[in-house]
Amino acid sequence: MDKEKLLILKNWIEECDNIVFFGGAGVSTESNIPDFRSTDGLYNQKYDYPPETILSHSFYMKRTEEFYRFYKDKMIYKNAVPNNAHKILARLEKAGKLKAVITQNIDGLHQMAGSRNVLELHGSVLRNYCEKCRKFYDVDYIINSVGVPVCQCGGRIKPDVVLYEESLNTEITDKAIYHIQSCEMLIVGGTSLTVYPAAGFIDYYKGNKLVLINKDSTAVDGRANLCIHGKIGEVLKEVCQ
Ligand code: NAD
Repeated sequence: MDKEKLLILKNWIEECDNIVFFGGAGVSTESNIPDFRSTDGLYNQKYDYPPETILSHSFYMKRTEEFYRFYKDKMIYKNAVPNNAHKILARLEKAGKLKAVITQNIDGLHQMAGSRNVLELHGSVLRNYCEKCRKFYDVDYIINSVGVPVCQCGGRIKPDVVLYEESLNTEITDKAIYHIQSCEMLIVGGTSLTVYPAAGFIDYYKGNKLVLINKDSTAVDGRANLCIHGKIGEVLKEVCQ
């Protein structure tokens, strides 16, 4: 890792007390949850349909059983625990420096690490509800169900996850945009920035401390004021010891 860049990041984090973090699946790969687009990510494994087809609203409606087979197998990681990235971000929030974590992840690991202001753009596998009576079900109920999980009332249970073709929750997106617009430093990490509309949110940042931390390069590397290629848990550990 480039020592000079790490030093700049360290200094910026020390100076700033209005930081916002925007992240994606790469934040949780160090917790052994595969992302979508890395070489060993889900998109490079072979299924009958591409993941974005299976994880779409129309597929869920038409082939619910097949949806759940993939979903239970590939999207739920019950034993995953927070890694250094989640833990350090939680620590920065506690120290009053970080104002919000905006995540595309659906694994609940930021909250497990202690972060409180977490804006989950794509929902969470930990929450599920009956489509008929809205009764809430936890993730264990989904894991332990055979086939399509069904409510006591007979209704079908749906994960509180934003599927492809579904729109984002406006209350959450409004808050995310507010934080991005008003923060002093925006740290973007572990995301390929290819899933819209979420990826477009960083356009709301108008400051001069846009930091990108990603294992591989992304299409927006050139726009960042500081671009660090590396594993986010390792980078944050290096600068926030
Ligand atoms: P993505 O798979 O498209 O991209 C992940 C990016 O993170 C890649 O550019 C990769 O190089 C990088 N990366 C991987 N490991 C890293 C690490 N340790 N440190 C730094 N960078 C790392 O993910 P995305 O942009 O978040 O979009 C995928 C969509 O899939 C999201 O909408 C998300 O909801 C969903 N998803 C979520 C999870 C999860 O909740 N953990 C897992 C897979 C997919």
